[in-house]
Amino acid sequence: MSNIVLQLSSDVQNRVKTYYASSIIERNAPGVVFAAKLPDTAITVYKSGKVMFQGSGATREASRWGEVNAVSSQTAAKTTSNQPIKTKGDTLPENFATYSVLGSDETGTGDYFGPVTVAAVYVPKDKIELIYELGVKDSKMLNDQIMLKIAPDIMAVCPYSILTLRNDKYNAIQAKGYSQGKIKAMLHNQALKHVLAKIEPEKPEYILIDQFAERNIYYNHIKNEKEIVRENVLFSTKAEQLHVAVAAASILARYAFLKEMDRLSKSVGVNLQKGASGKVDEMAARIWLEHGEEKLKSISKWHFANTEKARKLLNKKK
Ligand code: MG
Repeated sequence: MSNIVLQLSSDVQNRVKTYYASSIIERNAPGVVFAAKLPDTAITVYKSGKVMFQGSGATREASRWGEVNAVSSQTAAKTTSNQPIKTKGDTLPENFATYSVLGSDETGTGDYFGPVTVAAVYVPKDKIELIYELGVKDSKMLNDQIMLKIAPDIMAVCPYSILTLRNDKYNAIQAKGYSQGKIKAMLHNQALKHVLAKIEPEKPEYILIDQFAERNIYYNHIKNEKEIVRENVLFSTKAEQLHVAVAAASILARYAFLKEMDRLSKSVGVNLQKGASGKVDEMAARIWLEHGEEKLKSISKWHFANTEKARKLLNKKK
């Protein structure tokens, strides 16, 4: 099956919608503004202006609206340079980028404000090309605006799970003695479990976790969980450069983080600073003064050193 994605102007998008109006179908997927189905081609128009053509007639239909480039099969080469990436962790099978993989990644762990989020995404081999076409690549090469735009497209195309661990819950379990490593491991295990349940009876050829702890430590963290995902699990650092499933997971985790940061920012009337710098201390002190300790606690990772620094700043202000 062939997948082609074109980025079309709103003018051309409107012509697309009119042209396929008689074949319109209902599709309640996120980011989708129009969908139509011909006997051999599915046409999907996304809010982002991307239009996707899927099926054996994809080339024919797509070429009515834009230039269809021959798509290279060397997908891995698009995210990786010619130089081998130095990673730690498992040695991956050759041509790993071409396998059906369930990948997971997290974000927010180093930010004083906001949640920890973990996402897992399943990209079967027949969707790898499409995910690249949607613009998914190493999230370090993408800015927040682009990730907010791409995330709904990923969610429309691939089975996924996103977990947002809000600050109140984070602080509660952290106070019980859970390390960040344990919290992350539990969330990764859960997100992977959710996606495996969604795609059943299909199974990924491999699961790749962006490594934050070595295998033994990871499994030690989750040894008391009811269900532990172990089958075909690989660990590697820089995993988002090794398979597009992890790159996609990283984008969804970031998306969820940004959405929650947005919500929290509105609740205190300032744009919350990311990271854990001195700027964060200043902002925390101000929020403490204006909204009180409980409010600050409810939007932050309370055990970070920033809390004590903010307390000192606050005492100076008083
Ligand atoms: Mg990571």
